[in-house]
Amino acid sequence: PSLSSPADLAQARSELRRIFGFDSFRGVQEDVLARVLAGQSTLAVMPTGAGKSLTYQLPATMLEGTCVVISPLIALMHDQLRSARANGIAAATLTSVDSDWRETQDAFRRGELDLLYVAPERASQAGFRDMLSSARVGLIAVDEAHCVSEWGHDFRPDYRQLRGLLDALPHVPRLALTATADAHTRADILSQLGIPADGLVLAGFDRPNICYTITQRDNLARQITDLMASEPGPGIVYAPTRAKVEKLSEQLADATGRPVLPYHAGLDAQVRRDNQAAFVASEDMVIVATVAFGMGIDKPDVRFVAHAGIPKSIEGYYQETGRAGRDGDPARAVMLWGAGDFATARQRLSDVEQHRLAGERARLDALAGLVETPTCRRAVLLRHFGENPPVSCGNCDNCLAPPKVTDVTELARKLLSAAYRTGQSFGLGHLANVLTGSADDRVRQKGHDKLSVFGIVEGDQAALLRPLARAMQARGALVSNAHGGLELGGDARAILTGEQNVEIVLPPKKQGRGRRNGGV
Ligand code: ADP
Ligand code: ZN
Repeated sequence: PSLSSPADLAQARSELRRIFGFDSFRGVQEDVLARVLAGQSTLAVMPTGAGKSLTYQLPATMLEGTCVVISPLIALMHDQLRSARANGIAAATLTSVDSDWRETQDAFRRGELDLLYVAPERASQAGFRDMLSSARVGLIAVDEAHCVSEWGHDFRPDYRQLRGLLDALPHVPRLALTATADAHTRADILSQLGIPADGLVLAGFDRPNICYTITQRDNLARQITDLMASEPGPGIVYAPTRAKVEKLSEQLADATGRPVLPYHAGLDAQVRRDNQAAFVASEDMVIVATVAFGMGIDKPDVRFVAHAGIPKSIEGYYQETGRAGRDGDPARAVMLWGAGDFATARQRLSDVEQHRLAGERARLDALAGLVETPTCRRAVLLRHFGENPPVSCGNCDNCLAPPKVTDVTELARKLLSAAYRTGQSFGLGHLANVLTGSADDRVRQKGHDKLSVFGIVEGDQAALLRPLARAMQARGALVSNAHGGLELGGDARAILTGEQNVEIVLPPKKQGRGRRNGGV
């Protein structure tokens, strides 16, 4: 495949106007289209709302043959179908709720379809593969492509079967799309779907108008009441359970006199619809909700998103806070966390299937790194999404009021040395055992009790290893590999040679039984 010619892009631009009525491409859309039109397989990582659908809908109208789109959510597929048809694109779906299969198959065979949406479980069946070989396919788009990766937050076994279909059509370019993929997941998607590493197109994830604040909970209702006092516009408060949603919405309504409504899956469907509609129409309402709220809601003037507990992951946090300030005006994201949140989340890890454990643990560690960092929140977020941001943004709590930090460079060097000398393939548990001189079976069996780093960390310092390791991961100096082993990366070398310092915010001292005072 060669580069797409300028003529292709000029034609794409005129089709953009003619079919969609848009004047110009947004962000990386043009880069993605250039590759797709040139027949090059691509992984596009673009945040929600960046306009992923256009990157296959437009080629679908230009390329010879049908564009097959694999998409995991039937409801979303039917939304897409409606909007594609409204734009005059010949589109159809093949799902368990469709009854017009025969017509769809005939239309495909006659080459009349621009777009064919299909669910992953259907796409991997032999019958579907046979059907595809009966007419020309111009492009295979895999939506929500992170579902193919066990590292992703939403692994679906059906996605694993797609490779057979893709390989049966070796000359058809592939376009994988996702809004959320950290470095591991991205690499995994590329290899699972057979897309070359240089086929990655990454959109900018920065939302400069959102000011991030992450702070400990002490009095939740009062903290959110204060936030509401400073932000009179619409807001969303995410709470972890239905009971907390109910309680908090009453407390906030009482304390502020502002319109406050609850939203969670336990409410009657009609009540949910009414509350959502009221929120969308309002200029000062606050909705207290579980994460069930927000998908597909179009409200550009949300002024704040608060989390009354930790989100599930950095991906989730980015997506939920991303609902603030879509109009580009200043907006706030405030997370109120408690150490108990992390304790609960870590307990839940014991229920996770073995093959997903490393991924889940890495996700939680990444989140803890964001919560604990004394450095720029935005920088940690953007690095997580593979960007290379400036060290400071001037629009987050840590940039606006730098926290009191302690220099732990010496301890950081010891940790890096231990990771290095044990072959960069062990997790923190093992490294901590080596460093603190606890010669358990594994340490002895590997001969790590003979290393110079054995037992060089003592007393108080041992308790700092875990927060330090997370800080090192947050800045990229330690990177956890696919098996949970910690490898050196980023500025690890500069830390070892003394060119870079490492500072962390000291965790609060444990006081007797107080779980709130525990570590993250
Ligand atoms: P995503 O799937 O990435 O979340 P969508 O494909 O749903 O995003 O697009 C989000 C919105 O942006 C849609 O309303 C779409 O019509 C609009 N959009 C996409 N591309 C453009 C463009 N080039 N110019 C203007 N609006 C666009
Ligand atoms: Zn910042």
